[in-house]
Amino acid sequence: MKLIFEKSMPGRGLSILPKCDVPEVSLEGFERKIDLRLPEMSENDLSRHYTELAEHTHGVNNGFYPLGSCTMKYNPKVNEEMAQLKGFTGIHPLQPAETAQGCLEVMYKAEKYLCEITGMDGMSFQPAAGAHGEFAGLLLIKAYHASRGDTKRTKIIVPDSAHGTNPASAIMAGFTIVNIDSGDDGCVDLEALKKAVGEDIAGLMLTNPNTVGLFDRNILEITRIIHDAGGLCYYDGANLNAIMGVARPGDMGFDCMHLNLHKTFSSPHGGGGPGSGPCGCKDFLVEFLPGPQVLAGEGRKEEGNSYTMVERENSVGYVKEFYGNFLVVVRALTYILMLGREGIKEASCNAVLNANYMMEALKDIYPMAYDVTCMHEFVMSLDMLKKETGASALDVAKTLLDYGMHPPTMYFPLIVHEALMVEPTETESKETLDEAIAVFREVHGKAQEDGEALHKSPQKASIGRPDEVKAARTPIVKFVFSE
Ligand SMILES: *Cc1c(COP(=O)(O)O)cnc(C)c1O
Repeated sequence: MKLIFEKSMPGRGLSILPKCDVPEVSLEGFERKIDLRLPEMSENDLSRHYTELAEHTHGVNNGFYPLGSCTMKYNPKVNEEMAQLKGFTGIHPLQPAETAQGCLEVMYKAEKYLCEITGMDGMSFQPAAGAHGEFAGLLLIKAYHASRGDTKRTKIIVPDSAHGTNPASAIMAGFTIVNIDSGDDGCVDLEALKKAVGEDIAGLMLTNPNTVGLFDRNILEITRIIHDAGGLCYYDGANLNAIMGVARPGDMGFDCMHLNLHKTFSSPHGGGGPGSGPCGCKDFLVEFLPGPQVLAGEGRKEEGNSYTMVERENSVGYVKEFYGNFLVVVRALTYILMLGREGIKEASCNAVLNANYMMEALKDIYPMAYDVTCMHEFVMSLDMLKKETGASALDVAKTLLDYGMHPPTMYFPLIVHEALMVEPTETESKETLDEAIAVFREVHGKAQEDGEALHKSPQKASIGRPDEVKAARTPIVKFVFSE
């Protein structure tokens, strides 16, 4: 498709700028050397351009999007309505707190509900993404040990079934990593963990459910081993979609954690849009949380000033300007209030049910990496298929595109060869799941017939197989004018 600048016609379109009604000021020395080159188009052509662009994009509103680890669930439109309210969008972060009471109430209530859901005592909405929340949580662990003069704890244990961001965040926070292998059951190997703990261990980061979609059955034992050794336990809660309303990291012995509001709490994500990865913790760490704390002032409601904001004395500092991506918090609070206590739990239960339903319907032809009851996602290994037919996980994923389906996550987690990781989410109907199962089975049949043919997939998508490294590392995001 043509770019908007290629469609531009000189003189086309209209200017809707009102007449200048303030004194004109000379910008001497700051004028442009050449006129501003904006695309010139009629409103009609412009509208068609963006509609066409949207048609080339796959989102949850187009079709099934089982991208494992990403929780691409449906984003209820009511969340957007709330996030568009003037009272939330027309404010300035430096406005006095008494003129932004509604916004403070949102932050206060969202913190309370999310603490109830996770079993934490305090939460900061500053971090802008999951990995950013991990970084903040690790700073809490660091600050805690430092506050006790315990400076020899410089290492963080990260099991190999952790999300890839975990070791990266620990390094960013200045720790070194102690990696431990999973046992044959896909869970943390307790013997390896016992060997790894010691006086140099600051803590452990656990992704639970882990990246192979399993809830670690030894979780209480794991946090006990770490605590006994003087370390703290960090919970990567980006996969909370499997357990919210059912089990709480705070009850499992975790001291701090993060959530992905853009995943579990249904903010649209992907494409680098604004996210929110709140960092939560137990009471003894609250003083270290990043950013200010919203307090509900008792008995001052008549002054219209019942919520106030205070800086935390021993905070690790700001990890982002002001209060994080506030409108994502508005969406999350809306989501929680719309679902309610029972709905939150039902969402997780259905997410787990949907994943197990698909897994059971596929496992006779797609071997599962771990053939046990899964949580909200499952991982299959296409190793055998590739050996037998030449069709790889990539080939199968690309072929799914021709059926209007977004491919699952590929080649992740790294501990499974030829991995495809499927997360259907709770918002898909049984009919959609049945259709997807039929497509997966049909593609498997095609691979058996002629595995090599799948190398040419996709046939119907707007582009075939881009050079993925080049596309990620050197994307062309700027139009270059010929003169
Ligand atoms: C998505 C995810 C993250 C990282 O979240 P971002 O918002 O992409 O930084 C961390 N851990 C797990 C388990 C995840 O699924």
